[in-house]
Amino acid sequence: MDDCLFCRIVRGEIPSTKVADSATCLAFRDIAPKAPVHVLVIPRTHYDSANDVSDAAVVGEMVLLAKEVARAERILDAGYRMVINTGVDGGQTVGHLHLHVLGGRGLKWPPG
Ligand code: 5GP
Ligand code: ZN
Repeated sequence: MDDCLFCRIVRGEIPSTKVADSATCLAFRDIAPKAPVHVLVIPRTHYDSANDVSDAAVVGEMVLLAKEVARAERILDAGYRMVINTGVDGGQTVGHLHLHVLGGRGLKWPPG
């Protein structure tokens, strides 16, 4: 995807602050953090959304890297939230599958 924002981040064409990575995924800080820790985990391969991915390994690797992010950010034991916004009603604004890792404070539930 030539003009996809997160594909461009994967290629290094747009700067980002890397937190962790793996062979298949990249984790970087959200540009507009909604919590003291707000990191995005994305697959290096483009998928439009969770609706578009059927490879369980990709989804699993995203979750495992999210856990590594929580460890690196020292919120593993305090707790954190993983969120995958999907589609319009889900609040998805970037059309490249991503998982939010949020923490560093108590998060209200439901998010609204
Ligand atoms: P969504 O609303 O699609 O679930 O989440 C997209 C997220 O991407 C938002 O939290 C937004 O702040 C973040 N974002 C948008 N553009 C950029 C960018 O250029 N760099 C980074 N690091 N995050 C971005
Ligand atoms: Zn993309």
